[in-house]
Amino acid sequence: MFGKLREQSGNWRGDAATYTAAHARVRAEHGPASDWHCACGCGRQAEEWAYLGTDPEPKVSTHADSEGSLYSPDPEHYAPLAKPCHRSFDVWQAQRRTGVPIALVIAEALAA
Ligand SMILES: [Zn+2]
Repeated sequence: MFGKLREQSGNWRGDAATYTAAHARVRAEHGPASDWHCACGCGRQAEEWAYLGTDPEPKVSTHADSEGSLYSPDPEHYAPLAKPCHRSFDVWQAQRRTGVPIALVIAEALAA
């Protein structure tokens, strides 16, 4: 129901998308994460869209809830994950550089 509002707001489109708008854009593109199984292969239902760290030019969030977090304005750089998997993945990701192939990212996140 907020789709129209977001489309009209200035930060919805292009590279200027904020952290919040970027995640809303992922949902608009791929649907709610709960429509998917967790991308790590654990068999759980996904709950959140996770930024995979694969954007060569990531942005840094200034949003209060996620300040300092990297994100991408491009929905292609996100995968659906269950909450525990997302937390583990973020910790793992914080210790590594960006630009790793997605399959490798998921495989290593699982093994961690
Ligand atoms: Zn999982």
